Amino acid sequence: MVTTPTIPASPAIITDNILRVRAQISEAAARSGRLARDIRLIAVSKTQPLAAVQAALSANQEDFGENTIQDARNKIDHLQNKTAVWHFIGHLQNNKAKYLPGRFQWLHTLDSLELAKKINQSMSSANQSLSTLIQVNVSNDPDKYGVDKNDLPELIETILNEDLKQIQIKGLMTIGKLGASQSEQKTAFDLLRELRNKMAESFELPLFTELSMGMSGDYLLAIESGSTMVRVGSSIFVARNKRTN
Ligand SMILES: *Cc1c(COP(=O)(O)O)cnc(C)c1O
Repeated sequence: MVTTPTIPASPAIITDNILRVRAQISEAAARSGRLARDIRLIAVSKTQPLAAVQAALSANQEDFGENTIQDARNKIDHLQNKTAVWHFIGHLQNNKAKYLPGRFQWLHTLDSLELAKKINQSMSSANQSLSTLIQVNVSNDPDKYGVDKNDLPELIETILNEDLKQIQIKGLMTIGKLGASQSEQKTAFDLLRELRNKMAESFELPLFTELSMGMSGDYLLAIESGSTMVRVGSSIFVARNKRTN
């Protein structure tokens, strides 16, 4: 994924951004007849310095997203913050699962049985558990990780058959296609919601309720499609005149 260098935003700007994003989430929720509290705002702090996370914590932000273990360890291990909830949203190599316990409560990018087993093993040896989402490549983007939607039922079935006690599968996640139009994005979000409903029903999983979808450019659209977790980076951590949206 391409990340453009950005000027770090000051704590005041970060606070301002968080308040604005929260207000927009509330408005989008109201427009679609939903409750704002059913939508979790994840501040994607990847590549951001520790000070930026501290500023967001001061603005009562609780959920944070990171996409590499190394970057995440530098922050989480230094902060030792008890209220922060950390979400791993990047591609996780099997051999990095051991770094999850004690740091992350959520993994959004499960896409293989092998990884599920590795994670379960790591969490088990730490006597912890992890909430997980399965990443689906709904737009069939060859540059993206995630399971093909046609392979999703089989993946869920094999994971459930393994009876992995330390991981709970709670829903689906997708990353919008770069450069897609709003209507293409909406179609992809609606498809993910339908997949979640179908899987929850056919596998009788009452707790399979989450939909992690929507980033800075499309989180309002994602909320209209039923998103329960929006992953917002640049709209929070980048000064406004530097953002493209
Ligand atoms: C970087 C990232 C985001 C946040 O993107 P923004 O456009 O900066 O809001 C969300 N999800 C994933 C998986 C990411 O890697």
